[in-house]
Amino acid sequence: MICPKCGSEYIKKDGSTYRKQQKYQCNSCKYQFTENSQNRIMSDKPKGKLIIQCDEMWSFVGNKDKKYWIWLALDMSTREIVSAHIGDRSQDGAQTLWDSLPPVYRQCAVCYTDFWEAYACVFPKKRHKAVGKKLGKTRYIERFNNTFR
Ligand SMILES: [Zn+2]
Repeated sequence: MICPKCGSEYIKKDGSTYRKQQKYQCNSCKYQFTENSQNRIMSDKPKGKLIIQCDEMWSFVGNKDKKYWIWLALDMSTREIVSAHIGDRSQDGAQTLWDSLPPVYRQCAVCYTDFWEAYACVFPKKRHKAVGKKLGKTRYIERFNNTFR
């Protein structure tokens, strides 16, 4: 058990609440808390900024004459694919990817892409950051693409 305020391990029991919950007090900073508040603090994940990476890759689907582009959007913190779309490598492809993003991402997320111009035409400037491949920001999704392929 540690103090939720200062992280000190010097905790003493400090009576109980009217709901019969054990109360504690920190010997270091005198902060009073219950077991419940400790649990809440432990299970609350810090909410970081939403960051997604978008990338497009080509693949043969069905017969080998037809090349398709697979558009992917990856949440950087959960490593989940939040949007995927198969089509051609046009502005329509980028538009469909954008449209199928969950609304919270369209409103809040910063979207990292490469310099493919379709993204810049479709993604709002405020939400969009084009980064060179050398910078490594799109490296993770490219690795995913390689395993996907
Ligand atoms: Zn403390």
